[in-house]
Order: sequence, then structure tokens, then C-alpha cells
Amino acid sequence: MENQTTHIALLPSPGMGHFIPFIQLAKRLLHHHHISSTIIIPATGPPSNTQTTLLQSLPKPINHILLPPVLDLPKNLKAESEITLTVNRSLPSLRATLDILLQTTRVVALVVDPFCLAAFDVAKEVGVKPYLFFTAGAMTLSLCFYLPKLDQMVTCEYRDLPGPVELPGCVPVHGRDLLDPVQDRSNDAYQRVLDNMKMFTSAEGIILNSFLDLEEGAIKALEMEEPGKPLVYAIGPLVQDGSSSESNRPECLKWLDSQPEESVLFISFGSGGTLSQDQINELALGLEMSGQKFLWVLRSPNEKSANAAFFSVQSQNDPMSFLPNGFLERTKEVGLVVPSWAPQIEVLSHGSTGGFLSHCGWNSTIESIVHGVPIIAWPLYAEQKMNAVMLTEGAKVALRPKLNDNGVVDREEIARVVTDLMEGDEGKKVRIRMQGLKHAAAKVLSEDGSSTKSLSKLAMRWKNI
Ligand code: UDP
Repeated sequence: MENQTTHIALLPSPGMGHFIPFIQLAKRLLHHHHISSTIIIPATGPPSNTQTTLLQSLPKPINHILLPPVLDLPKNLKAESEITLTVNRSLPSLRATLDILLQTTRVVALVVDPFCLAAFDVAKEVGVKPYLFFTAGAMTLSLCFYLPKLDQMVTCEYRDLPGPVELPGCVPVHGRDLLDPVQDRSNDAYQRVLDNMKMFTSAEGIILNSFLDLEEGAIKALEMEEPGKPLVYAIGPLVQDGSSSESNRPECLKWLDSQPEESVLFISFGSGGTLSQDQINELALGLEMSGQKFLWVLRSPNEKSANAAFFSVQSQNDPMSFLPNGFLERTKEVGLVVPSWAPQIEVLSHGSTGGFLSHCGWNSTIESIVHGVPIIAWPLYAEQKMNAVMLTEGAKVALRPKLNDNGVVDREEIARVVTDLMEGDEGKKVRIRMQGLKHAAAKVLSEDGSSTKSLSKLAMRWKNI
């Protein structure tokens, strides 16, 4: 074998929300522990421009391999099924890739995404230890471990339970706020989640992108050693470091430069979130009513699914054409709307940004915390409602608007919550607590911090294999 240094293989699932933390994990392992890695990427097509830029920026000891794209998927699959099928159909090429890699490199672990659990068998076949990198929070991981028990105990749909569900160490959560696929127990997706949870236990360890001060109760409960339960390493917050060069600085950052400190509400629904036309109208008119400054990343509406842009990111049509008549003209002094994508990390770290109306995807959640930006929690899909509960009722660093009887947040409610966050008393309290959490997030990553120690433990384990 040519290369005796410790090397790991990483397998993210398609989707930026998973790809970004895997890249950060690879970087941290290299910089802090000299562990090199190969990122193996399953996909349905060529990488997006954003993915290519990220891959090209990686230092040399972090390699990447694009698996042959899976081309013949059935049409109209839900995002979760599309991801799982893509990964499953990529397993033979993953196996071939690992075989080649192992000829020259000491690969000690295959670290996979929660959607890539089927790759555990491949890891075992080639003699590499399987690890899970859980890209959501500790509360969701707790649900994963607790679900088989809940499934035994409860006979009705969880949303019909009279009281909240008490996950070990977590803030109580109502059944209707649990993970999407557990909302309909008669659906195949529910059974798939249950089966997946059982597979978690065959991981050698679970890496968690969270940190003690954010989810202390849940993390301590997860870290308790029990027979048959993998070791959990809370190593977060892992967030990307954004830096556009001066020459290609995006317009929205230049616009932020000219705004007063902490005055702008940033609005974004992650890499794939979409709203209905009705909801876009209400959001626009609510923002206008609030009179607050805003920077809005807008996608074309979708009436059927809240994650319609998960794979494409870009809107199919010009999103601006879906705004209410005259909105852009009337708000041009206070707001900026950008289509489909903004450099979120740079926006959140900008001094003019004072709030984040977010879909509460896990990366957006921790990026906001790392930069101390208080949140308006507007969850759309996946485990985002659980994140919203943790942020509003656990950490108390977010405000959550109420839906009306038609499941829409109406303009009055939007104006109320936006004004409250940016200027009100509740907003002040949330802002102060968010500053505290920001400092805690920096501390856990310092030399003696809890997340630094967890990562060191994991790195030692790998080096000793
Ligand atoms: N993101 C971005 N610009 C955008 C939208 C998203 O840079 O306009 C990044 C964001 O910073 C985060 C990731 O994409 O790192 C989205 O991940 P998250 O877990 O928040 O949501 P998901 O897209 O998985 O729903």
C-alpha cells in the first residue's frame, strides 16, 4: 500500500444541505487531525455550479470521486425516495470505487449520510468500519432511537395524541411537529423510516453536527453508553466558511453594505424550499406592512410540494413574475429580492443582517447560531418542525408565526412577527439569548471545547484502527 496515513471515505447523499456539512467534516479532520479523505458523490446528473466551486476549493488531501449518474429513475418521485433510490442504484459503483481506493490507501472508515445507510453493507464487505454522519440535530436523532418504542406504545397517528411526545432529554414536541415521514403511519415511507432507525444501531459510531450548549439534554442522553447503541460524537457546529472575492462580490452583499447595522431581515427557505402562490403574496404584503428592511431569496411557487427545488435549486421560471403587482417598486427603498440563491453564510455574517426568516433546515439553523442572528421559524418539510420547536421552546432563540385555518401564514401575522423580531421586546430577548449561544458555539470549538474533544476521540479511534 502506497499511502499509510489514516484516510476515510465520505458518502453524502444528493442535496446541498447534506453535501456542505460533509465537506466541512473533511476539512476539519484534515486541519485538526491530519486525516485525509475521499468524498464519493452519488448523483442523478453533473454537479451544480455551487458544488463544483466547493469541490474545486478543497485542499489536495481531500479528493472527490463523482459516481456515474443514475439516469433511469421513475418520474415524479418524492425527494426522499429519489435520494434513496439514487444511492441504492449507486452501490455497485461505490463498491468498485472503494475496491480501487483500498489498493493504495489505508481507508479506515466509510462515513455515510442518513439516506445512504444501504452503504453499510458495502463497507462491511470491503472491511471498512461503517459510521453515520447525522446531518440534523440531536432531537431528531433522539426520535430515530425512540421511534421503535413509540411505534409499540402508540396505536393512533402521532398527530392525534392528546399530549406532547417526550423524547429523552428533549423539549416536549407535539406529534404534528414530528418528522414528515412519520405523519402517516400507513404509508410505506413510515415503515422505511422505522427500518432505517434499526440500521442506525449497526453503525460503529454516529457523528452529530450539534453541540452541548444547544441541545444539552438530548446530547447527554444520546451519549450515554448502552449495549447495542453506537457511540455518539457531538462535534458541531460545522458550518461552511463563505468568502467571495472583492471582484465577484454578489450584488446583494453590496446592497447590505449600504444598510444600517442589524437592520435587515434575511428570508430564505434553504436549497430547495418553495411556497405556494398564495403564501408568496401574503409574505410579500406582510413584509410591506411591517415596513422593515428585507433581503428575500425568492423561488417560483409550487402548489404541490414544499421542497420542489431540492435537486434543481434554481426556479424553472422567473420568480419575480410571481410577486404581487407593484411590490418591487413600492418596496425598493427597503428591500431587495434575489432569485433562487444567495451566499447565505456571507449574508448571515454581514453586520447589517439582524434577523433570519428561515425554513429551519439544520444547516441554516446552526449557521444562524454561529453568526448570532435571531430566527423567525418557518418550517416547511422533513424534520424542520422539530428544529423549530427546539429553537422556539428549547433554546428560545426564535419566534414562530401561526398558520391560519387554511395552513397559510397571513400578512397580518407576518407583519406582527417580523416587527416583533426586528424591533419588539420579544425580539430583544431572543436576540440576547442568540448572542449567548453564538459565544457558546465558538467556545465548544476552542482547544478545550466539548466538540473539539469529541472529534479528537473519534480521530484517535480511527488512527488506532
Ligand atoms: N444555502 C445558500 N444559499 C441559499 C440557500 C441555501 O448558501 O440561497 C445554503 C445554506 O447556507 C445551507 C444549505 O444551503 O448551508 C441549506 O441547508 P439546510 O440544511 O439549511 O436546508 P436544506 O436545503 O437541506 O433544506
